[in-house]
Amino acid sequence: MNSPLQVRGLRKSYDGREVIAGIDFSLVRGECFGLLGPNGAGKTTTLRCCLGLTAPDAGDIVLAGEPVPLRAREARAKIGVVPQFDNLDPDFTAAENLLVYGRYFGLRDAEIRPKIAGLLEFAGLGGKEDANIRTLSGGMKRRLTLARALVNDPELLILDEPTTGLDPQARHLIWERLKRLLAQGKTILLTTHFMDEAERLCQHLAIMDAGRIIVQGAPRELIRAQIELQVVEVYGEDAPGWAAREAGKFSQRVEVSGETAFCYVDEAAPVLAQLAGEPQLRTLHRPANLEDVFLKLTGRELRD
Ligand code: ADP
Repeated sequence: MNSPLQVRGLRKSYDGREVIAGIDFSLVRGECFGLLGPNGAGKTTTLRCCLGLTAPDAGDIVLAGEPVPLRAREARAKIGVVPQFDNLDPDFTAAENLLVYGRYFGLRDAEIRPKIAGLLEFAGLGGKEDANIRTLSGGMKRRLTLARALVNDPELLILDEPTTGLDPQARHLIWERLKRLLAQGKTILLTTHFMDEAERLCQHLAIMDAGRIIVQGAPRELIRAQIELQVVEVYGEDAPGWAAREAGKFSQRVEVSGETAFCYVDEAAPVLAQLAGEPQLRTLHRPANLEDVFLKLTGRELRD
């Protein structure tokens, strides 16, 4: 079966600066692929190129079997998109938003109307057909945008930061719905800044920085391959001093950020035993996770 999205040798420059520097990836049908990276890494530009909204300088993109940008319109009619910022029409009700959106894809009202109740139900908005968009919470608007993206029964859904700005309850609900869509055999491409989101949802992910994909793989594989097994986080005013004095004796790698030292170890017992004699410090011992991999590969300094 063909991949729902294949990208080869994608490049894009703005004002002589290459913001996408030759990237390759492809999605596997029925899987969730996560595109991660700090601000400015090139994620949005990549998505825009894939959707035919930004013209690449080089590379081949095949989206839903159609070459992009050549047949971007046809490709977009076969997929669903949830943009980063909700762009629902506030002058229409929830049901009208679905109808108007469906018309963009050439769907007839008679095809869309029977689906509306089911789509709203799926999005946890059952009975909200006549709701005014202005009365919906941020979480409800995001769910309505998800329902809208499903109006053409797409094989692939592309979501740009689907849970940014949502409270924990709303995030969990979106995750649960995305998992249901995966269980139905849909393919998902998402960008996210939340490593727990990527770890929960994605079978495969790519970490981008400065226009390049620096690693790709399954979340568990990346954690195994890129990082020590365990982390001991040490907090307190004296944590940087302790890190300088002691941590190197126990830890292959130590990172200090403010008043926290992160000790990356395969075996935590020796460093925990030493810390038992340092009552001024607090500690947290945990398995290494995707965020540790992300910070190791992209650094801890702020990106604007
Ligand atoms: P991300 O989504 O990972 O935060 P973007 O794709 O938005 O990254 O941006 C990548 C880089 O491209 C950034 O340095 C950004 O300033 C630059 N960029 C994006 N769009 C434009 C544009 N239309 N004109 C000039 N520079 C742009």
